[in-house]
Amino acid sequence: MKFSQYHFVDEIKWNLEKIGFKKPTDIQFKCIPSVLKGEDVLAIAQTGTGKTAAFVLPILHILHSKSNKKRASGIKCLVMVPTRELAKQTWETFQALGKNTRVVSLALYGGVDQLPQTQKLENGVDVLIATPGRLFDLVSQGYLFLNKVEILVLDEADHMLDKGFIKDIRDLVKKIPKFRQTLFFSATIDEAIKDLAYSLVVNPIRIQVSPKDPVSKNVNHFLMYVEMDDKRFFLERLVKEFEDKKILVFVRTKVRAERVVKAMERVGISSFALHGGMEQKERFEVLKNFDLGKCRLLVATDVSSRGIDISDVHVVLNYDMPDVLENYVHRVGRTGRGTSKGVAYSFCSTEEKPILEKLESYLGYMPKEMEIKDDMYKEVTLFTEDKKPELKDVLEEFHYLQKKKKGKK
Ligand code: ADP
Ligand code: MG
Repeated sequence: MKFSQYHFVDEIKWNLEKIGFKKPTDIQFKCIPSVLKGEDVLAIAQTGTGKTAAFVLPILHILHSKSNKKRASGIKCLVMVPTRELAKQTWETFQALGKNTRVVSLALYGGVDQLPQTQKLENGVDVLIATPGRLFDLVSQGYLFLNKVEILVLDEADHMLDKGFIKDIRDLVKKIPKFRQTLFFSATIDEAIKDLAYSLVVNPIRIQVSPKDPVSKNVNHFLMYVEMDDKRFFLERLVKEFEDKKILVFVRTKVRAERVVKAMERVGISSFALHGGMEQKERFEVLKNFDLGKCRLLVATDVSSRGIDISDVHVVLNYDMPDVLENYVHRVGRTGRGTSKGVAYSFCSTEEKPILEKLESYLGYMPKEMEIKDDMYKEVTLFTEDKKPELKDVLEEFHYLQKKKKGKK
């Protein structure tokens, strides 16, 4: 079925045409009718399968059609997301697909001046896309009322319902009318979180697509056994091997992100860091430059592992194995988006092997190993202009391992 056959308002159809979306993806095909009918939905589908438009399209249609009649003021749809970057990106999708409709949307996130946001709220907003922190600030300051919300969306739902956010979400739900539609979207969800999701809704939920392998089918992912101190040499090799291609590298901490950038600098490779310790303006700028291809190597923490849709990322590298298992799926899911294919590598050091074991049981299989022969290993670590291990690097590693050991006791 093509989008042209859908009963969407004309404005939305024109926008779809302009953007070049001809037919719905599987998850969109399955979700859109349920959302239009007002049902609660728990939608699980792999990364990059178009979950955003699966809720944006029907929501735009519902709100635009309603606003033909007498329009009640107040926020009608609240979309909760875990990061500022994702809030901005989701807002951009609402803007692109909702152009020339009567639906007004606003992204609300911290790290930037709140005045422009409150001014826009005063002018009237239909769809609010928000991260929890700023949302609660504005609610408690009396700038924001949620008593007119009809649709609540939790994108990256498992994360939003996880330890860090669950209290916020529970508090939030108390402020929203009970009689509402609730939509959950994610690529990963476990049974406990599923129960939690069910506890937040009144109506039964429809589960739409539930893939056995949570890793996107568009991503070929491999494991490489590389020791901690040698990782930067292998990254250097990877960058040279994938000339002209965009590479997104994930590391464990902000400090490590900065160190990897410096290590690459020493061997003449330019890259950017992206992590939560940076100014928000800079975070947006780095992401934009990477998206535009002005820089082809980005070294990031998990702040950008979820939901972010960057064009043409060809390689994802887990420079460090992820501490949180589902982030493996989300990180490697930054490539292979839509119909494009991608490749992911994970550097696993001796210290990280316990994570690998857990990953195997989480995925239900072990990622394929990309074997590095001894002479190749030697060649990579010798064939570099940079051989001095940094004391700070070693110390940070040491503290991390100490902490891990303590945690186990
Ligand atoms: P997910 O949330 O499932 O990870 P996104 O919603 O970010 O995925 O979409 C992934 C990519 O697919 C985006 O670049 C988006 O523009 C594209 N996309 C979404 N729906 C369609 C469609 N129907 N046709 C073509 N491309 C699409
Ligand atoms: Mg998404």
